[in-house]
Amino acid sequence: MALFIQKFGGTSVGNVERIRRIAERIERTHRDGHQVVVVVSAMSGETDRLMRLAHDVTPQPDDRELAVLLSSGERVAIALLAMRLRGCGINARSFTGRQVGIVTNSSHTRARIAKVTAAPVRQALADGVLPIVAGFQGVNAQSEVTTLGRGGSDLTAVALAAALKASRCVIFTDVDGVFTADPGVVPSARRIPTLSYEAMLELASLGAKVLQARSVEFAARYNVPVEVRSTFQEGAGTLVTHEDADMEQAAVSGVTGDRNQAKITVVGVPDRPGIAAHVLGAMADAAVVVDMIIQNVSHGGQFTDISFTVPRNDLARALPLVERTADTIGAKTVEVREDIAKVSLVGVGMQSHSGVASKMFRTLSGESINIMMISTSEIKISCVLDERDCDKAVRALHAGFGLDRRPDAGDETGRPAPPARKARRPA
Ligand code: ADP
Ligand code: ASP
Ligand code: MG
Repeated sequence: MALFIQKFGGTSVGNVERIRRIAERIERTHRDGHQVVVVVSAMSGETDRLMRLAHDVTPQPDDRELAVLLSSGERVAIALLAMRLRGCGINARSFTGRQVGIVTNSSHTRARIAKVTAAPVRQALADGVLPIVAGFQGVNAQSEVTTLGRGGSDLTAVALAAALKASRCVIFTDVDGVFTADPGVVPSARRIPTLSYEAMLELASLGAKVLQARSVEFAARYNVPVEVRSTFQEGAGTLVTHEDADMEQAAVSGVTGDRNQAKITVVGVPDRPGIAAHVLGAMADAAVVVDMIIQNVSHGGQFTDISFTVPRNDLARALPLVERTADTIGAKTVEVREDIAKVSLVGVGMQSHSGVASKMFRTLSGESINIMMISTSEIKISCVLDERDCDKAVRALHAGFGLDRRPDAGDETGRPAPPARKARRPA
């Protein structure tokens, strides 16, 4: 008897009708004789709604209280789904993060998992109970509620799969799998049947929000095969697992666009040793992840500018610290741009292909798109550009690198093309 983790995202539990539909799906797996542990997210839009509420109450909500507030969305979803299943005669029971023993550090709204005991879930399974677990939440050593960062229900599912040694962690969502680009932005994007953890981690970190990046990291560390599938359509999805000989080593396997970016420039910094360490050290102390960094050539040998990018939702935390440091070191001003985006090409095969970067720059210049910053690694190239150009750049690169699906040709596994997708929606 196989044990599966089935995780349903926000749109999959977005209304009563959808909760009924997924209850049917869970019931089928359960009646087929498999053991199932279900993880659910808050109903779609709910986490954003709670976040707005917090910011309406006060401009910089306290992190501990924010975690308490945000975790409530998942409680609603587990209770509703468990009620529906019980109403259908299934012995389902809801569990919060605390009840399943998800223990985290104390970084309240971006907590890292330290330990998963899962003992109550094991007991429930042994008793023939179907556990419905709240995603996105845990508790710290003091038993205070914490949340696992946006998209954190994926991490709950993978962590439970690892703790329970499940055969597979299935992530049910509103798309058929992982695509060569966000199908909401590029309708001709193709589903990728199999992906290595490495490529998936890069795609997720660079903005493909279909899987939370930390969940992919966790899956790779604990060898959890993760399958991404549609809640609403039958058919194959994407299997994310260790690299094997059959996986394509495409130079470019996907294109991502990430709008959660802001650029900070410290202008007129004295050009002497230790200054960059000073400015960026302040970010490290505040646990703000700095991504791209550029230090310009100094003006007449005395002053220089340092620019770097941070996640846009960390800007409110980062800016006062940068301003304070700028004052201390005698810099002239601090400038901020929030209307930027980062567009990236990802491909494990990139390391053995040349010319990818130059083709990327040519393609962007062909669209008259200006590049502000560039960074590369062995398996990705990223460019920072004006946010208004983000979708245009993603589409141009997708077509330019030959990733577009031929019209009506279906994807490479022969499935017909999915219907045109809705425009971007809030999480
Ligand atoms: P859930 O609520 O189920 O967790 P998310 O909204 O977090 O779903 O993730 C699914 C969304 O990710 C899709 O609707 C799609 O718009 C977006 N997405 C971005 N990049 C990709 C990609 N490369 N492949 C598939 N989906 C992507
Ligand atoms: N509800 C949380 C969020 O919107 C967690 C998740 O959906 O995975 O980020
Ligand atoms: Mg998600």
